[in-house]
Amino acid sequence: MLIYRNLPVTVMGLGSFGGGLAAARFLAAQGALVTITDQKKEHELADSLAQLDHVPLHRLALGGHPDDVLTNCRLLVVNPAVPPEHPLVVQARQAGIDVTTEIELFLRHQRGKVIAVTGSNGKSTTTALIQHLLKHSGSPGTAWLGGNIGISLLDQLDNITPDDHVVLELSSFQLHLLRSRRFRPDIAVLTNFSPNHLDWHGTLEAYRMAKQGIFAAQSSSDCSILPAELEHSPQGSAAWRIRGRKHCFALEDTGQDGAFFDAGSLILRTHHGTQEDSVRLSAPRQLPGQHNQLNLAAACCATWLAGGNPLTFADSIRSFQPLPHRLQCVADRGGRQFWNDSIATTPESAIAALKHFSGRAVLLAGGYDKGQDLQEFADEIRRSARGVVLMGQTAEMLQQLLNSSSQGRALAIEKAVDFQDAFARAVAMSHPGDIVLLSPGCASYGWFRDYRQRGEQFETLAGEWKPTQ
Ligand code: ADP
Repeated sequence: MLIYRNLPVTVMGLGSFGGGLAAARFLAAQGALVTITDQKKEHELADSLAQLDHVPLHRLALGGHPDDVLTNCRLLVVNPAVPPEHPLVVQARQAGIDVTTEIELFLRHQRGKVIAVTGSNGKSTTTALIQHLLKHSGSPGTAWLGGNIGISLLDQLDNITPDDHVVLELSSFQLHLLRSRRFRPDIAVLTNFSPNHLDWHGTLEAYRMAKQGIFAAQSSSDCSILPAELEHSPQGSAAWRIRGRKHCFALEDTGQDGAFFDAGSLILRTHHGTQEDSVRLSAPRQLPGQHNQLNLAAACCATWLAGGNPLTFADSIRSFQPLPHRLQCVADRGGRQFWNDSIATTPESAIAALKHFSGRAVLLAGGYDKGQDLQEFADEIRRSARGVVLMGQTAEMLQQLLNSSSQGRALAIEKAVDFQDAFARAVAMSHPGDIVLLSPGCASYGWFRDYRQRGEQFETLAGEWKPTQ
């Protein structure tokens, strides 16, 4: 694209999951003069830098952001993890520099129909499900998967046609940074809403407003999909301004437009009930729990509204490969099943897992303290767990909440000094027939690089464990 030729651009935050990397690669390929700046030092970014080996870069400014990193800069691409009030971002705005993100760059240039998914939990699963269902649904065009799920589609811009669907997972950070851009997806999905990332957004309302961004620029020719239960939430559905055609989803039929389970079938309804389909459908074994049933309803609703034939849904769901580290049975030995749900970094996701295994799970819980309220998590542990081993920064607080919780019965509670210790304690607490469940409800920082490393260690320990007898 000629607009980028010789344009001085700065990519702030290279990261390790593709966003900064993909933006740098794309802009360099367009002939831009790319400067990369990152807080981290060269050796910490070695893996990402190796992927830029043959990319012509103008400058690398690592281990901090030098004063002159914005000199002559015309476009600043920020990593969504960078807070909006970061001094460099503020300085760029004041200097009139176009401040953007990798996903917004992609949206500027792509030609497909966009199905966007956000929510506090279940984004990745729902996004991946929609792409999978669409791929097998007989609708024309290709279904692309991208966004916060860890895939940049910038290098596919030339291949994406107006017949295609682009299914994007969007985080609240990405949506916040899209707010001024009139982002208007053809279909927008909100999986659910509960407090999260308050350290980044500041207040619950700021977090909600970021999520609201998925619906904000839609019009009556677009579709908006949201959980029916939002009507009963403390935030209420009234807070959500929906301008697209509203569709809801739930485990039972509310009579609204949307997708609803009803006696082994999924009812799909639109245009104020004048158009309706019903298909035999149930959640497959690889997507356990009521929360996944809700994700499935949301995904089917989006796919159907995008033109997918619902008669294909039941078959294609069977071939859906669940994403790793999300409520996955990774070992079955000594009468125990070991379930890896390491990505459960929010209390709600761990609560969903506990409810699914009600009364059968010995839980590994706790981790980095994001400042979230853990009371409901503690109450659910008391109600549903057989035992709990507490880990990391939040161990102390969880112990206090468990001790003061009015819920449930007596519970074995232990605190671990490290992850191996946590695993050993959980196994020692368990009996044949039990589930040993890693669903921490908290982020992994402190003990681990990320949730993947935590999940992998759990899988290794579960694979190596031998029952004594
Ligand atoms: P996200 O992309 O929003 O983090 P994922 O699909 O990756 O969501 O799932 C993350 C965690 O949340 C997993 O532990 C999963 O079991 C749990 N989860 C998925 N969907 C829901 C839901 N609808 N409600 C509560 N928890 C959920």
